[in-house]
Amino acid sequence: MGAKRVVALDIGGTKIASALVTIHEDGEPTIEHFAKVPTEAKAGGAQVLANAIASARRVIEAAGDVRIEGIGVSSAGVIDPATGDVTYANEIMPGWGGTHLGQELQTACGLPARVLNDVHAHALGEARWGGGRGGSSCLVVAVGTGIGGAFVLDGHILLGAHNEAGHIGHVSCSDARGVPCSCGATGHLEPIAAGPGIIEHFIELGGDASCADGTPADGAVIDQLAAQGDERAIAAEARSGHAIGEVLGSMCNMLDPDRIILSGSVSQCGSAWKDAMRRGWNESVMPPVSSTPVVSGDLGGNAPLVGAAENVIRSGYAELANN
Ligand SMILES: [Zn+2]
Repeated sequence: MGAKRVVALDIGGTKIASALVTIHEDGEPTIEHFAKVPTEAKAGGAQVLANAIASARRVIEAAGDVRIEGIGVSSAGVIDPATGDVTYANEIMPGWGGTHLGQELQTACGLPARVLNDVHAHALGEARWGGGRGGSSCLVVAVGTGIGGAFVLDGHILLGAHNEAGHIGHVSCSDARGVPCSCGATGHLEPIAAGPGIIEHFIELGGDASCADGTPADGAVIDQLAAQGDERAIAAEARSGHAIGEVLGSMCNMLDPDRIILSGSVSQCGSAWKDAMRRGWNESVMPPVSSTPVVSGDLGGNAPLVGAAENVIRSGYAELANN
């Protein structure tokens, strides 16, 4: 197949990243002409769309004469990958829901466009070209300010009947019993295991809400305190780690993936978090799948761009264009 080039966009709540991604038959994907602009989410969906179109045009112009297969998009919100529509977006991006993102980009730029939700794009990038490379199935989980996930089998993302599959932050775990969740249910993983839950629990246990210089305590500060032996910081990280381990073990029993890819800022925490994660894992995983590797993501912030590009190559547009 040689090398195929795709204009990739990653539309988040604060920034739109854009680049020309080249997917090679063998070897790492390469990223050129990378740039970021403010999303201007508060200005409404039409402004975000205008910024996305401008970003795509910038890359097309920068690429010059090279052949481009299409536009691959990773976007916040619930996406219908079949149509490229944003079917729902929360209050962080007012007016983004209802945008015919794929069709608008296609019309404005004259190239086929394919759209994925950002969590799914991240997962496809990592599964195919990052931590999951060479395997056939993987569960990708990102733990940061929120928790997202996706199961990828032979390059296909499990999207579900409502394109909502993979909400691993909203599965039940024993440590969260009775804790209210942002989704309206109780007992879910996210409120106790994501970054804000760690900070909240640290403060509940008597930890200082702000540092000596007045800045609020954040995950990095708490991780440093945990490394220094601060018991409140250790307990706050351990509650998160244990809950993540318990849920990953359960998911592994259900899906039996080749490997689990864990990314996001919380997954970078030190031994207090990691040891607790391993404890939770050991308590819930079944012996036949207990040796499943849990590895780190490889692509970092580029994973959604690479996944969005991969989605265009996989969609069949490339083959059609070649015939
Ligand atoms: Zn929930």
